[in-house]
Amino acid sequence: MYLNEENIRKDFPLLSREVYGKPLVYLDNAATTQKPLCVIRKMEEVYSTINANIHRGVHYLSRQATESHENARRTVQRYINAASPEEIIFTRGTTESINLLAATFCRSQCKPGDEIILTTMEHHANIIPWQIQREITGVELKVVPLTKEGEIRTEDVEELISSRTRLIALTHVSNVLGTINPVDEIIRLGHNYNIPVLIDAAQSVQHFPVDVQALDCDFLVFSSHKMYGPTGIGVLYGKKNLLEKLPPYQGGGEMIAHVTFEKTTFNELPFKFEAGTPDYAGSTALGEAIRYIESIGLDNIRRQEEQLLRYATERLLSIPGMKIIGTSQHKSSVISFLVGSIHPYDMGLLLDRFGIAVRTGHHCAQPLMNALGIEGTLRASFAFYNTEKEIDTLAEGIERVTKMF
Ligand code: PMP
Repeated sequence: MYLNEENIRKDFPLLSREVYGKPLVYLDNAATTQKPLCVIRKMEEVYSTINANIHRGVHYLSRQATESHENARRTVQRYINAASPEEIIFTRGTTESINLLAATFCRSQCKPGDEIILTTMEHHANIIPWQIQREITGVELKVVPLTKEGEIRTEDVEELISSRTRLIALTHVSNVLGTINPVDEIIRLGHNYNIPVLIDAAQSVQHFPVDVQALDCDFLVFSSHKMYGPTGIGVLYGKKNLLEKLPPYQGGGEMIAHVTFEKTTFNELPFKFEAGTPDYAGSTALGEAIRYIESIGLDNIRRQEEQLLRYATERLLSIPGMKIIGTSQHKSSVISFLVGSIHPYDMGLLLDRFGIAVRTGHHCAQPLMNALGIEGTLRASFAFYNTEKEIDTLAEGIERVTKMF
């Protein structure tokens, strides 16, 4: 392995706990990651040393809290290499980021009959906001099919492009299949037709470097809690010229320039999209999570997780009846699987009794399950702090359950 697991695991207090008297084997990292002590401490530090409402205050604490929030914005900007901090909008997470974009984009840039292209492997967070806008604004949704390996092909995206296409919105990495989509190619394709592209990076920014300027994506969204940061905060990145064209999403404090009952003018970016008191404790702790990731090194994280994925794929495939769902050559550290005719829920419950946390079900991707002709899967998702020994424990657990059936 590339990283010293023992040292790394010490950074995450939760990883050393037991469940049912057995050491916890936490393999549900695509749902949320555990938090390093520095992130937990940072939350505590904000509330115990600088807590005050930000932006409006002249007093010392308020200015310190404001600086902390705005520093975090610059940390996120650096992390994804955005051109300026104004392009970083803090939201509650990926879901809110996509709802914000869907509502403001469809309202201002689309007419009835205009089309948004999605893919079969989208998380519900990148489907339902567009369906809500279909009801309100009359946009139509076009859906790119999957290959049998669980991949999206750029030519299949091109097939769906028409003179009415206004946006292509797709996930960078599938939370079910682990497939890493060729987003660079799809962004270039979109731009050939003057179509902006939204990337759902909820499953990518924690695994490998994502550079929004190199990708040239127009919008990109992610959640802090899946990248070792706190819950309740996330990011919408947008190119400045595009964000400027969009109307505000929510109204309230912070997002205004001047208010009378007759007319209100709005604040500039990024504040136009950050109505109300922002989560400055969350943003500060997200900044800390990013510094933590950088201290380990994203390239080291990627290599460690690639090795875990290879090891787990081989080990799981040695189990009779094992079927891995999602067999792309380009995968992140997520393995969905089924074993014989054992229901994923039954298997998940029994694995839990051995202290193994995996996810079961449709993983908020029911249209993908329909396309695959299955109800659900088990899913093991790895972070760099997982070990080959934990993968052995998972495999042995599956073997024991298989024998029971
Ligand atoms: N998109 C993808 C690909 C995801 O995996 C998830 C979380 N499972 C989301 C969106 C939604 O993220 P959140 O619940 O943090 O808003």
